[in-house]
This record gives sequence, C-alpha cells and structure tokens, in this order.
Amino acid sequence: MIIAKTVEEVRSQVREWRKEGLTVGLVPTMGYLHEGHASLIDKAVSMCDRVVASDFVNPTQFGPGEDLEAYPRDFDHDCQLLEAHGCHMVFHPSVDEMYPDGNGKTDTYIEILDDMPKQLCGKTRPIHFRGVCTVVGKLFNIVMPDKAFFGQKDAQQLAIIRRMVRDLSYGIEIVGCPIVREEDGLAKSSRNTYLNAEERQAALVLSQAIRMAEKMTAEGETDAEKVLAAMREHIEKEPLAKIDYVSAVDGVTMAPVTEIKGNVLIAMAVYIGKTRLIDNCSVNA
Ligand code: AMP
Repeated sequence: MIIAKTVEEVRSQVREWRKEGLTVGLVPTMGYLHEGHASLIDKAVSMCDRVVASDFVNPTQFGPGEDLEAYPRDFDHDCQLLEAHGCHMVFHPSVDEMYPDGNGKTDTYIEILDDMPKQLCGKTRPIHFRGVCTVVGKLFNIVMPDKAFFGQKDAQQLAIIRRMVRDLSYGIEIVGCPIVREEDGLAKSSRNTYLNAEERQAALVLSQAIRMAEKMTAEGETDAEKVLAAMREHIEKEPLAKIDYVSAVDGVTMAPVTEIKGNVLIAMAVYIGKTRLIDNCSVNA
C-alpha cells in the first residue's frame, strides 16, 4: 500500500492509474479505523480497480470545545487494517498540507445554505457540516474518484454529501454502506474508545431505542411522535444518558416529519457521560 502525505503524491499516482484505464474509489475517514471503516474499504475494493482511503482528523469540522485534540489517532494500526482489506493508497496529510493558510484555517468553504445542515447534529454543531463538505470537496478535487463511499452511521453527513455532489455537479457516485455494529448492538465508532466499562454498558440504550423504532414502524406505527416518545422514555431510564436529540426527518431533505411515510430517517445523538454518540435507522413505510 502506498502511503501518500502530499496532494501531489496522490495526484501523480491517480494520473498513472487513469492512464491504465483503472477506476478509482475514495473512502474518506478520520482514522482510528475499525470494522465499520473496513466495510467501506471492502465495498470500495469490490466496486473499483483502485481504492484510496484518506486518514485525516479534519479541524474545520470541529467546533470550539469539541474533541479535536482528544480525537484518537493510531496511524500504524490504520495502515495495517487498510492493507489487510486491500486498500491501494492511504492519504495521510498534515493539517498544513490540507489547509495551506496554517492552523487548520481556511477562508473558502463549501456550505449548503438551506436548513439541511441545521437539522439533527447541526443544531448543536453549527459549523460541523460546513467543515465536512469543505474537506470532502477538497478530497474529491485531489483524488477525483469515480465513486466515494460513506457510512449510513453518519446518515445526515451522507445525505448532505449527496446533495453537495448534486448541487456542485461533482459527477462522483456516492455509495452508502450499512452501519456495522458490535455484537451487542452498539454502532462501531472511533469515539467508543472514550467510554469506560460502565458507560460502555449504558451506551446500549442507543441501539436498543433504534430497535424499538424499527419494531414499532414494522408493526405499522405511523405517528412519529409516538415512536420518538417511546425511544426517549427508554433512553431516559439510563442515568448516564443525556439526550441531545431523538428525531424523525425526511430521509433526503432532513426536514422534520410527523408521519412515518416514505423514506424517513429516525436519528439520535445521546451523551453517555461526556461522550456524544449517534445512531439511526432508515424506515421505508
Ligand atoms: P469517521 O472516521 O468517523 O469520519 O468515519 C469515516 C467513514 O466511516 C464515514 O463515512 C462513516 O459514516 C463511516 N463509518 C464510521 N463508523 C461506521 C460504522 N459503524 N458502520 C459503517 N460505517 C461507519
């Protein structure tokens, strides 16, 4: 596997692959990789001739007081996982390589101006999706992939990237990949490493609430508020859990819905102690 640290190294390698007529897939990540990320690599390897993973903790998507400095990093382990799954190149740039103004600052952003990035996670993370769109847009410009792979785990991010690709005519196919979970149901996340043993147990309320939503909607419940109320009641029984949001939104626009009809995303963010975790399910009623 090629380890590229600069934009130019990525560009020249991709140019070589293009000359050979090979297709290229991109898997953007912030590193500290687990089986959720590995599933994206597997999917990309199955659909593209060459796969590039990016491994970069992107400062522009972290707000003040968030966990930018604390975010876990282990590049050697990441390389082992990527190589084992058949990734061809990892792009691991410095902050200055990605943001030449220094200190992770930039004056040029990609930002969706309607309410989409203000819903769900955007309510408490107002600059988050502007940072995500900006770094993903930059990665698209650097790698110029045919396809890019994102997890349903970050469902709002996936919807926003699809919108950005449409609005800016990127001509890149966005492939969404299912949530990979621990055996007991907890969605795999780099941030799970913040949880102590007691919190790890408490964190199960998220996936349990998601299962409740799936069951209620499968049994025909169409009143979103009833589903959300049952989920909230379950989560609130756990003393270590504090709800940020539990919401039902349109699966494409992220606008709140009251009726479970068509493509609906039921999503939540819940603090377990100091750690903010997210989970979701898509319902097609
Ligand atoms: P991150 O490194 O957390 O920014 O995630 C990089 C990519 O991996 C994103 O597209 C995530 O949605 C995806 N991802 C993270 N965790 C999971 C998971 N448990 N299952 C599937 N995809 C995931």
